[in-house]
Amino acid sequence: MKIKPTGNLYLAMLFIGIAAGAYCGWQFGPAMKSVAWMGTFFLNALKMLIVPLIVSSMIVGISSMGDVRKLGRQGGTIFIYYFATTGMAVFLGIIMVNIFQPGVGVELSETAVVPETVAGKEQIGPTDILLSLISPNIVKSAAELQILPLIVFSLCLGGILTTIGEKGQTVIRFFDGLNEALMKFVELVMYIAPIGVFGLVASKLGDAGGGEAFWGELVKIGKYSLTVLVGLGVHALVVLPILLTVLARRNPFRYGLGMLPAVGTAWSTASSSATLPVTLECAEERNKVSRRSALFVLPLGATINMDGTALYEAVAAIFIAQAVGIDLSAGQQVVIFLTATLAAVGAAGIPQAGLVTMVIVLKAVNLPLEGIGLILAVDWFLDRFRTCVNVWGDSVGAAVLDRFFPSGGRLERNLAGTD
Ligand code: ASP
Repeated sequence: MKIKPTGNLYLAMLFIGIAAGAYCGWQFGPAMKSVAWMGTFFLNALKMLIVPLIVSSMIVGISSMGDVRKLGRQGGTIFIYYFATTGMAVFLGIIMVNIFQPGVGVELSETAVVPETVAGKEQIGPTDILLSLISPNIVKSAAELQILPLIVFSLCLGGILTTIGEKGQTVIRFFDGLNEALMKFVELVMYIAPIGVFGLVASKLGDAGGGEAFWGELVKIGKYSLTVLVGLGVHALVVLPILLTVLARRNPFRYGLGMLPAVGTAWSTASSSATLPVTLECAEERNKVSRRSALFVLPLGATINMDGTALYEAVAAIFIAQAVGIDLSAGQQVVIFLTATLAAVGAAGIPQAGLVTMVIVLKAVNLPLEGIGLILAVDWFLDRFRTCVNVWGDSVGAAVLDRFFPSGGRLERNLAGTD
């Protein structure tokens, strides 16, 4: 039998890889660090594809919308959709943390220090997010896998290419060919995913000291972890499926099943950017989202649309406030709502990026950065779940855009120069 990365047998193998990794990491603890190389091999293969894939996807996606001057409505729709769903996620997080009150009774010790992860980042603010949109050196940004400036650059370039006639079309056709070849490349890389996810999961759990050590850390702030997980669960399994049904007229079960390889990869890598190649493959091949919608919406979503991160930032900030005994006013909770949304937009699609941009939220309402120390030990674990929600939210966005602006073969006609 032929195993195709788009088939269900492949999906089963992927999840067996994750389950086996979790079992071995739990049982054998630090010894499993010896299989970390398998995960790194897979992760590097995905990362290798990110830069050319993002540049070609954005250029082809944007140019398939026709003349850039007509882009406004579609671009506007997807931005509104992204901001609205991120806002819903933060709102849900704020409700959850106010109901569960996970921080009450937790103590922040007098001697707590600002954790190393955020040390040196205390000064980041909202303007830094704006500045991160433009890179003074696009090659350096690409080399460092800074996706946001790369997206802005490709978006502008793709738009301009549509306005300069035949010469522009030649360049677009080049990127279209490149993109199609890269998608085949993604399929090849996906063949090693079942082993890759095994290595990633087993070594990470091993690194955390094995099952018992990890469980000990988790139950210490179990109520906080549960609040984040329940919030993420409600957003992913109730809110987004409703939007998918109502706005995109898609069956959420079938669409969810189609995205499962991407969700499994997101859980194993904790990185939306590294998962992007798989997300594109699942949306196009398994869920038949038009190529134009997938290429435009998914790379954008992987960096700016992070529902899971936004929800977690709000829960974590209010948890810290509860732990240090600060009663937040309604006004301060509104500030948390706004800054958590912004912090999620600014977070890169890499492991634990949300922990760093949380500085913005905490500073906005004068909460101690030392509080991050309280949630640090289990953050790698919760990060995996929020990354799944981030990726799932992006793919729902692609289906929504597809319904409102069906491509009707425009990509093909455009590339043939007949539209
Ligand atoms: N790891 C997340 C992602 O890549 C970002 C975060 O919340 O830290 O989507």
